[in-house]
Amino acid sequence: MLNAANRSPAKERKEKTMDLRQLVLEEIDARRESIVAISHDIHSHPELGFEEFQAARWLTGELERQGFRVERGVAGMETAFVATAVFGQGGPAVGFIAEYDALPEIGHACGHNIIGTSALAAGVGLAKALARAGQSGQPVAATVKVFGTPYEEGGGGKIIMLDAGCFDGVQAVLSMHPGARNSVGGGSTAVTPLTFKFKGKSAHAAASPHEGINALDAAILTFNGINALRQHVTSDTRIHGIITHGGVAPNIVPEYAEAEFLVRSPSSEYLVVVRDKVKRCAQAGADAAGAQLTIEEGLTYKDKRMNRPLELALKAELESLGLSVHDAHGTSMPASTDLGNISQAMPTAACNIAIADPGVPGHSREMAVAARSPRGDEAIFYSAKGMALTALRFITDASFRAGVAQAFPSAK
Ligand SMILES: [Zn+2]
Ligand SMILES: [Zn+2]
Repeated sequence: MLNAANRSPAKERKEKTMDLRQLVLEEIDARRESIVAISHDIHSHPELGFEEFQAARWLTGELERQGFRVERGVAGMETAFVATAVFGQGGPAVGFIAEYDALPEIGHACGHNIIGTSALAAGVGLAKALARAGQSGQPVAATVKVFGTPYEEGGGGKIIMLDAGCFDGVQAVLSMHPGARNSVGGGSTAVTPLTFKFKGKSAHAAASPHEGINALDAAILTFNGINALRQHVTSDTRIHGIITHGGVAPNIVPEYAEAEFLVRSPSSEYLVVVRDKVKRCAQAGADAAGAQLTIEEGLTYKDKRMNRPLELALKAELESLGLSVHDAHGTSMPASTDLGNISQAMPTAACNIAIADPGVPGHSREMAVAARSPRGDEAIFYSAKGMALTALRFITDASFRAGVAQAFPSAK
C-alpha cells in the first residue's frame, strides 16, 4: 500500500493516467477477434458510398452491445451514425472517425474497413477503460464518440454531418488511414466537383445545321478555354475533366452535352479563385455556341490542417507502441478527403499506418488485398491504441488540452 501522505497531487494524477493507459490497451486487446471479424466482413461485402448498410449495421451493432448510445441515419443519410458514451458530467468530448465505403469494382482498395474498425476499437477500448476506472473509484468525466461517416470517396458524408451539427461540442477528433508507410501530418488537396450542362438545339447536321445550336461545341470550347487557363494558375493546381454526354448521332446537331470536372488546389482559398475562372470558361463556351449553361457544384473537400500538438501526441503514442513514424508536416499529398473540412472546424489529427510496402498505390488491387491481411489486421490495433491513448491524454491532461485549443485554427 502506498502511504497517501507521500503522494503529491501531480504524482497521483500521473499514476491514475498510467493505470488508465494500461486499461485502454487491455480493453482493445480483449476485443481483437470480434473487431477483426467485423473488418473482414466489411471487406468481403464492399458497399459503395451511401449504400454502406451492412457495414453501418455491423459497426453500430457492436457499439450498442458495448454500451454506446447510437443515433442512426443522422444528417439525412441512412448510413451515417453517431455513437456516444458519456462518463460523469462536463468532461471533455473526443471523437473517432469511422469510414466504411468501398470503391467500384476494386472493393476495399482504400482500406476503409480498417478505418471503420480502428475507430470502433478505439472508441470501445477507451469507453470500457473509463467505465472500469469509474467502478474502481477513479471516475474521469469525458464524452467518447464514434462518428460513422459515409461515402468518403466522393459524397462528402463528413461535410453533411458537420453542417447538420453532428460534431458540435467535440473538442478533438482522431482518425487514421491505412497506406504504405507510418506517418502523421501533411496536408491534402482541396477539391470542388463541377458539372456543366449545355443545352442547344437539334437539327439535321447536313441539311439544316444553321438551324441547330451545337451543345457539344460549347463543351469542347470549355475544354479549350480551360487549357488556355492552365498557363495562368499556380503549378500545383489540377483541373481534370471528361465529357459525359456529347450527342447521340453524328447526323444530329447535339442538343445536349455535359462535362464533369474536378478542380483541385492545396489551398481552399485559392481553389475558390480557380473555380470561378473555370466557370467563366464554361460560360464563354456556352456563349460562343449560343447554348444555355447550367452549373452544378458539388461539396468542396477542404485541405487538411492538422492540429500540431494533437498530431505530435498521436505520433508519440504510436511510437510508444513500437512503431517508427514519419513526420510529414509541411508536405501535401495530391489527393483529397472530407476529413479536411473537419480539420478546419475543430482540432483534428490523423495517422497513416502501413499495411503494404512503399510503392503500393492506394486504390489498387494490391492495396485491397493488404486491407484484409495479417498486416492490415495489425494496423487496426496500432492505430486504435494510438488514437485511444491520445484521446485519453486529451481527457486527463488539462494543459495538453489547452495547448491543443490554443493551436486552433491550425495553420497550413
Ligand atoms: Zn480512397
Ligand atoms: Zn480512403
